[in-house]
Amino acid sequence: MSMNNVGRPTRPEAAGDANDYVHPTLTGARGLLQDEALIFELNAWDKTGVDLPEAPAADDLGDLVRTSAIGLPGLSEPEAVRHYVRLSQKNHAIDLALYPLGSCTMKHNPRLNEKMARLPGFSDIHPLQPQSTVQGAIELMDRLAHWLKTLTGMPAVALSPKAGAHGELCGLLAIRAAHEAAGNGHRKTVLAPTSAHGTNPATAAFCGYTVVEIAQTDDGRVDLADLEAKLGDHVAAIMVTNPNTCGLFERDVVEIARLTHAAGAYFYCDGANFNAIVGRVRPGDLGVDAMHINLHKTFSTPHGGGGPGAGPVVLSAALAPFAPTPWVVSHEHTFKLVEEAKGPAAQAFGRMSAFHGQMGMFVRAYAYMLSHGADGLKQVAEDAVLNANYIKARLSDLMSPAFPNGPCMHEALFDDAWLEGTGVTTLDFAKAMIDEGFHPMTMYFPLVVHGAMLIEPTETESKQELDRFVTALRALAGAAKGGDVERFKGAPYHAPLKRLDETQAARKPRLRWKPVAPAPLAAE
Ligand SMILES: *Cc1c(COP(=O)(O)O)cnc(C)c1O
Repeated sequence: MSMNNVGRPTRPEAAGDANDYVHPTLTGARGLLQDEALIFELNAWDKTGVDLPEAPAADDLGDLVRTSAIGLPGLSEPEAVRHYVRLSQKNHAIDLALYPLGSCTMKHNPRLNEKMARLPGFSDIHPLQPQSTVQGAIELMDRLAHWLKTLTGMPAVALSPKAGAHGELCGLLAIRAAHEAAGNGHRKTVLAPTSAHGTNPATAAFCGYTVVEIAQTDDGRVDLADLEAKLGDHVAAIMVTNPNTCGLFERDVVEIARLTHAAGAYFYCDGANFNAIVGRVRPGDLGVDAMHINLHKTFSTPHGGGGPGAGPVVLSAALAPFAPTPWVVSHEHTFKLVEEAKGPAAQAFGRMSAFHGQMGMFVRAYAYMLSHGADGLKQVAEDAVLNANYIKARLSDLMSPAFPNGPCMHEALFDDAWLEGTGVTTLDFAKAMIDEGFHPMTMYFPLVVHGAMLIEPTETESKQELDRFVTALRALAGAAKGGDVERFKGAPYHAPLKRLDETQAARKPRLRWKPVAPAPLAAE
């Protein structure tokens, strides 16, 4: 039986065991979780939640007169609110519990950020407005750029990329432009470690490069000898993540940069894991030439199903002249977006997007920076690393850490060696976590670790929440080792949907709803 910390049972004893017979309910609801149809299936097209004025009579419309209902659901406010609240409860949310996806950095998004992003001066403006009418918004972009440059120790930043992968594209296009300007267009290879995030080789291939893998050492880092052997006059850039996707700091990063530069190539750093080192390490000091920063990971702006990300790219002095437009210049408290590159900057490769980037994300990230301050951002990195090491320490006796020696950075990585002989796979284990109220960790990534389970708690979790998570995982690990295979094979038992064919869902998504029968015309 579950007890809270004053010894009171938190759920009835009889229903406490997932193996108990659970009879289907008569309504389809499960306890307080309501069943809910699609909004178009609620048959609400003959009414509306708003009181619109009577439409003027129009008899001269001829063929244009509508003969069937428009088919838009017209829910009242409480119906609409309930519909979306019910749907929201069918999925996991960062507001419900720890969301341990490694590499994706799902952390709490402070409500203050949301309040700031909704200020009319930021949210009710249009990118084509005269710049004189949006000075505050442009000033915010300038200040955000200043913080990003200061935190990374890099002289330039392109704010417009709209995601990490888009930032990678921006960085590689700048690198390609720089090589072409120097007459080095023949450099057609990009090196990336075996553990690289899939977007790295995908971006390089998209830019027309051939990707060659760099081997990894037994302790999960770039193999320097292999890197050195593969560098040469044909290499345009290396793409290395630091901390890397095994959750480990690349200790030889300065040497990696030195070797790369000596070979005439650029060092692209995938900065998706910047949250592990922000305020403590400046990538510019390590010899990085270009790095994207996922504002939606490090600087707490929503992502995933929640909305657009933002992936500004910081650039070294060598690459700065190749930055895309626009960028902000200021003169005596007047701010200007440079939309057309002139002079030495004319080498810029063009634009990454139609306008200036994700304004709402800029505001949220800047609000997060200001509310933390320099000391607070440093603590973000320290707490993120501390929390991951706490999880690693508390689970390492039951589960097998992929790199047992030494501490990790912001992610604790386990392999599936500890599940051997249990009949339970990484996937089964992850699905059983859903029954226990947790979103699964990242599974089977990085590819270099067999049956990988990559856990990133982030700095926003308290020790109490970490303990809840650890307790659940320890109990599950005990069940797996104790032979309770059924608990895992059929999991999730308690979720609204069971095991989906995720490949089919991704490859052949059904995005269109078709009416079962034509909607009747409202009798007016
Ligand atoms: C998230 C991530 C990316 C891609 O970022 P998106 O914003 O999802 O495009 C790239 N590399 C690493 C290591 C990541 O974790």
